[in-house]
This record gives sequence, C-alpha cells and structure tokens, in this order.
Amino acid sequence: MEKKNWKKTAEDILDQTCRTALDLGDAAGRGAKAAGKAAGGAARYAKLKLEEADLTAQVRRRLQRVGEMVYATHTGDPTDSEAMEAVLREIDGLRETLREKERQRLGLRGIRACGGCGARNDRENEYCTNCGQPLERQAEE
Ligand SMILES: [Zn+2]
Repeated sequence: MEKKNWKKTAEDILDQTCRTALDLGDAAGRGAKAAGKAAGGAARYAKLKLEEADLTAQVRRRLQRVGEMVYATHTGDPTDSEAMEAVLREIDGLRETLREKERQRLGLRGIRACGGCGARNDRENEYCTNCGQPLERQAEE
C-alpha cells in the first residue's frame, strides 16, 4: 500500500513535469511568433524605405529631364509641350506613390501622415493637428 502511494506520487510528479514542459514549449512558441512578427515589421519598414529612395531617385531624374527641356527651349530648340506635360504627370504619379509609401511606413511606427498637408500625427488622432483634415484610417497590422 505504501509502495503504491509512492508510485502514484511519482506518476503525478512526472505528469506535472510533462505539463510544465508543454507549457514552456508553448510560451517559447508564442515568444518566437512575436519576435517573428516584430522582425517582419522591421523588414517591411526597411523595404518601404528602400522603395521610397527608389521613387525619389525616379522623381529626381524626371525633374532633371524637365530642366533640360526648359533649357533646350531657352536655347532655341523648343520642347514639345505635350512631351513635357507627360513627364510632369509622371512626376505627379510618382510623388503620390511616394506619399502613400511614407504613410504606410510611418503607420508601422504608430504615426499617421496627413493626406492633405503631410504633417505627422499620432495614430489615435482622428483629425490632423496641423490642418484639421480628417485622417485616413490605417490598415491595422
Ligand atoms: Zn494636415
């Protein structure tokens, strides 16, 4: 009888140890998942920053082309105004994409850039503290 009780106690301890190990494994899994998510956010932030740098370079190249067109016109070789208009519209599009990327990137840091004036606002703000325009809802990560 005494021996059986001891065996039961040993089984209980073993059982408890197994459960603790499982809980620890679970906690480790959750920790790894959270770390993975944070790393994913950092990677996304870095990727957006690279895309913004590329877009900025594209805008700069087009601005240079517009400058060359204006100068050519000045020196007696007039640029077709539609050709210049097309490049200017490309710049508009690139800048809009750039603003959107920046808004996404700042959103990852809990900052919302105003779509109107570009001012940086806290994620909780409903309206821009600079110009009063309603702030667009960010897609939650
Ligand atoms: Zn604003």
